[in-house]
Amino acid sequence: MSEKAIIEEIKSYLKEKNLNIEKATTTSYPSPFTEKVQESNRKKIRLIEKHFRAILEILGLDLENDSVAKSPIRISKMFVDELFSGMTPEAFPKLTFINADSITNTDSPIFTKNISVNSICEHHFLPMIGKAHIAYMPNQKIIGLSKLNRIVHYFARRPQLQERLTMQIADCLSYVLGTNDVAVYLDLQHYCVKLRGVEDISNTITSAYLGSFKKDFSFQESFERKFSR
Ligand SMILES: [Zn+2]
Repeated sequence: MSEKAIIEEIKSYLKEKNLNIEKATTTSYPSPFTEKVQESNRKKIRLIEKHFRAILEILGLDLENDSVAKSPIRISKMFVDELFSGMTPEAFPKLTFINADSITNTDSPIFTKNISVNSICEHHFLPMIGKAHIAYMPNQKIIGLSKLNRIVHYFARRPQLQERLTMQIADCLSYVLGTNDVAVYLDLQHYCVKLRGVEDISNTITSAYLGSFKKDFSFQESFERKFSR
């Protein structure tokens, strides 16, 4: 299916659910993208390959050598198809909702812990790796559980700042779930810290507490206790 067809399909799907794809994927904390983000993947791969080849040549690598000859195209495809595949709305996961009316005990928050986060820091283009933990208070609809993972993975697949990633996940979940009460906690290791300068690795913690969770410190404490080591 073409990219255009995919985005049309997702758009009509979200419309059915009264959701707007731009709002879900941009959030109130937009990534610093230009209109070039809308160029085709084919064009992006071709241009990045060309420029990455130049970088390797400047570094003094022999691009005729078998081992590195295909590195420019390999890196270029990895950027566009994998590491940065969450920069366009058409990569947004299809969501399935379950009507919360059909489920008892929906006045308790739903928790998901240990969602893998594999992202790239936009300052150094090195990995930020760790876990996300999420809680939300259902409001009429609940989401298929694996969809929480997919939403986290979607926003992680961009050049990111940990703080922005946290807020984008929280804001998107609040929007698609139609609830203000969302908690997102990210615990990531930054390889730019590990590989450079201090050559140490520490964990960076960021959190977003929205709605009634914002001032509910006893909730925050019990939430954080569920996954603290
Ligand atoms: Zn960094």
